[in-house]
Amino acid sequence: MTDNYGREITYMRISVTELCDLRCRYCMPENGICKMPEEFLLSEEEVINAVRAAASLGIRKIRITGGEPLVKKNIVSICKNAAAVPGIEEVCITTNGIKLPQLALPLKEAGVKRINMSLDTLNAEKYAYITRRGTLAQAAEGLRAALRAGFEKIKINTVLVGGFNDDEIRPLAELTMRYPVDIRFIELMPMYDGGEFGPGAYISNERVLEVLPELQKVSPDGSVARLYKLPEAKGNIGLISPVSAHFCAECNRIRLTSDGKLKPCLHSADEISIKGLDEGQMRQQMIKAIQAKPEWHGALDWENRSKSGRNMNQIGG
Ligand code: SAM
Ligand code: SF4
Repeated sequence: MTDNYGREITYMRISVTELCDLRCRYCMPENGICKMPEEFLLSEEEVINAVRAAASLGIRKIRITGGEPLVKKNIVSICKNAAAVPGIEEVCITTNGIKLPQLALPLKEAGVKRINMSLDTLNAEKYAYITRRGTLAQAAEGLRAALRAGFEKIKINTVLVGGFNDDEIRPLAELTMRYPVDIRFIELMPMYDGGEFGPGAYISNERVLEVLPELQKVSPDGSVARLYKLPEAKGNIGLISPVSAHFCAECNRIRLTSDGKLKPCLHSADEISIKGLDEGQMRQQMIKAIQAKPEWHGALDWENRSKSGRNMNQIGG
C-alpha cells in the first residue's frame, strides 16, 4: 500500500518483547522495566494474524525485534509461522546476539534469512560498560554461531557514541575485511528519556567518512543506509543517519509494539491499537496507520527529542 506521500510501505518491524537480558546505557534503565502483564501483550496468534493482515496490504518483509527478541520463549515458532505467511518474502531478526549460540541454527531452520547483531565495541571492558550486563566473549560467540548457521546476510549494528567508541571506527569497520558481514554505523537518537548520554555523545556519521577516507561508494540496496566499502572487503559499511540526514523520504515501514500498538513513525506519539482484534479489523487499523505516516519526523536533537513517548526497547529499534 502507498501512503499519502507516495511511499510504498513494504516492511513491518514487530517488537515481540520490551524485555532484554542487557541494559545498554543509551536504551534501557539500569534496573530494567516492569514486566507488562501477559494479557496486555499480543499473543503469538495475534502476531501472526497481524503478519497476515500486513501481507494482504503489500508488506513483504518482517523484522522481529524488541527489547531482545531471543529472550521470548516462543521466538522460533513466531519466526517460523511468520515466514510461512503467503506474501512474506523475508523474515529477519535484530538481536544483541547473546543467545545466538543456542538459537542461530533453530532460527535459520525456522526460515529467518538475515540477522542484524548489535555490537558497539571490540573492547571487553567497554562492552561490559555499555551493556551493563553482557560480555564481549558472549557476543563474539553469538556472531560465530550466526556465521556458522549460514544466514543470507549478517549485519552488525554499531551505535556511534562520542567519547565512547568513536576511536574504534576503523577496527569495527575492518570486521568487514575479516568476515562476510556488513557493519552499519547508527547515529545516537535522542529518545524519550535519553538514557545516560547527553548532547556531547551525539556525533554525526560524517565522522566515519573522515576516519576512513579510502571508503568506496556502493549503490543503495533499498535500505535507509548510505553504503560504502573498504577496498577488498567482504562486506559493506552502511551509514544510518536519522539525526544528521533524516531518511524519511525513503521510509517504507510501519512498526508494531509488543503491546499491539501500530506506530506510523518511530518518533511520533501516534499509536493505533490492534490488540484483541481479528485479522480483518487489524487490516483496517493498518490502513489507518499507513495513512497516518507523517512526511518526516521533524527535527531531532537534544532540544527536540523523539516524541515517541517510549524508549527504543519499547518500540523496537
Ligand atoms: N536487542 C536487540 C539489539 O540490541 O539489537 C534489538 C532491539 S534494539 C532496541 C535495536 C537497535 O536499536 C540496536 O541496534 C540498538 O543499538 C539500537 N538503539 C537503541 N537505542 C538507540 C538510540 N538511542 N539511538 C540509536 N540506536 C539505538
Ligand atoms: Fe537490549 Fe537491544 Fe536495548 Fe541493548 S539495545 S538494552 S540489547 S534492547
